[in-house]
Amino acid sequence: MRRPDRAGRHRRQLTASNRILAGPPRRFALRRCDPGKLSPYAEGTEEPGAPIEVVARWPERVVELAARPRGHRGAGRMSTLYGGVETGGTWCVCALGSGPGELVADDRFRTREPASTLQDIVAFFSRGPRPAAVGVGSFGPVDAHVGSPTWGHVTTTPKPGWANAPVAPVLARGLGVPVAFDNDVTAAALGEQRWGAGHGVENLCYVTVGTGIGAGLLIEGRPLHGLVHPEVGHVRIPHDLRRDPFPGVCPYHGDCWEGLACGPALRERWGAEGRELSDDHPAWALEAEYLALGVLAIVMVASPHRVILGGGVMERPGLLELTRGRLRELVAGYMDQPLLGGDIARFLVAPALGDDAGVLGAIALAQAVSSAGAASSAV
Ligand code: ZN
Repeated sequence: MRRPDRAGRHRRQLTASNRILAGPPRRFALRRCDPGKLSPYAEGTEEPGAPIEVVARWPERVVELAARPRGHRGAGRMSTLYGGVETGGTWCVCALGSGPGELVADDRFRTREPASTLQDIVAFFSRGPRPAAVGVGSFGPVDAHVGSPTWGHVTTTPKPGWANAPVAPVLARGLGVPVAFDNDVTAAALGEQRWGAGHGVENLCYVTVGTGIGAGLLIEGRPLHGLVHPEVGHVRIPHDLRRDPFPGVCPYHGDCWEGLACGPALRERWGAEGRELSDDHPAWALEAEYLALGVLAIVMVASPHRVILGGGVMERPGLLELTRGRLRELVAGYMDQPLLGGDIARFLVAPALGDDAGVLGAIALAQAVSSAGAASSAV
């Protein structure tokens, strides 16, 4: 079976010793064909003596899993497999598995226009064992309201071609399995809650500070969806123009939280990338001030048990500690709560799953929709 080539994919041919050399053609779906680190996966009809083209990279385990009776792995029971998809502005990440350390396949490719990108996602899941359900964490804004006529769509994005793209309905039709859908930051919040820095925490806020500021709020374990997704990044925070005359970068509000504290704001205000600024540069005290003010608003409105602060800007060593200190000062002892005082290091924390939070959270979404009987599915 020949497929269009794509950058980054292994494409090689099996050696003669791997092929059947005589007898009738036989159909195969998965085959151990490379003892190397990444065993490729192949499918098609194996003709005697004919080469088989390897079409994708797959960890060896997927071959082993698929070769055994469905539902079992070794002596123990094999976990049900779920699909996770994170569609980002630049990259799409797909994974098949049941959680961290239980991924049997994953891949990533560039986000292009919707039709070909969604086709790539369907092709990824068509190559391996069928997932019980697929979860999607998409860049936004999105319509995640089950029952809405535009459920599963990206809505008003300026990204060319993606406005009103019916992401989840197309994937549900193409895959034939239940599909769950939410935005990327909510998916990341679910991933961290299930397996990461928010494990066991029912009321949780995950904030990412990068090219923008986004947040996923989980209240009593469930994503909070109101009129629209809570756009926490656009809350207004105090802006002392004498200390910081920079007008902010938000095209809608100028100096909202995102406008003052996201990565592009740092770069434009100081004329340098964050990594070029020294540890004692005033940028960091100001950044911690703004971050603490935004988190304070979250604390006062939603009262989460924990806030996870991630994203590229937060990779700066020391910034999380500075933000904790300023947040504690801003709370000023008003609430008699150790987590907002001496134990603040257990309240405002770094993520644990890194770049995998989104796609793992998408798997958590898939598990939820599967156990709920496809309540959020378009199938
Ligand atoms: Zn704004």
